[in-house]
Amino acid sequence: MDRLKEYACENKIPIMQEDGILFLTEYIRKNNVKKILEIGTAIGYSAINMALVSDDVVVTTIEKDAERYNEALCNIKEFGLENRIKVILGDALEVNVDGIYDLIFIDAAKAQYIKFFEKFKNNLSLEGTIISDNLDFHGLVSSDVEIKNRNLKQLVRKINNYRDFLENNKEFHTDFLTVGDGIGVSKRS
Ligand code: SAM
Repeated sequence: MDRLKEYACENKIPIMQEDGILFLTEYIRKNNVKKILEIGTAIGYSAINMALVSDDVVVTTIEKDAERYNEALCNIKEFGLENRIKVILGDALEVNVDGIYDLIFIDAAKAQYIKFFEKFKNNLSLEGTIISDNLDFHGLVSSDVEIKNRNLKQLVRKINNYRDFLENNKEFHTDFLTVGDGIGVSKRS
């Protein structure tokens, strides 16, 4: 696992922060989560961590970048988890996913979070949970500091839009946690 973290750091591949992954795996353990759908595999770090919680956890994860997808497959094989982690190569907004999941973990393009949420809530069990990462986006979402970079400014605006969407959502209640890079835990109201 340390090798995966080092590789991600060296190659600037964004993976979940340490306390974020601890929260996620504890959540899975405490809530007896068995079927997980992840949007945004990268190199498989979070998928592997989630699958390692228990032998009966299964993960389906979607990645659109072919190189990362292939790296994820290798890493998953190294951990002997290829029977419990299925990686789908494609844009999550275009991929059709069958099945109902106890947990949906959204950790992909921040600008698309509302679309991911609206699409994949149809794959969520009645008592299931949607967890979204990066809702504080390195502290920039709640910061008063003026952001000069135009793309970054737009990204922070999109994350704020997603937070508003969650706060005003009548179908789901969301707890916003200051864990890792900011985590949203949404359950049907
Ligand atoms: N969950 C991973 C972890 O903690 O190990 C990190 C995921 S990384 C933050 C986000 C990944 O989502 C990137 O590898 C990116 O290529 C992928 N991604 C972005 N938009 C996507 C989309 N629309 N469909 C599928 N994957 C997407």
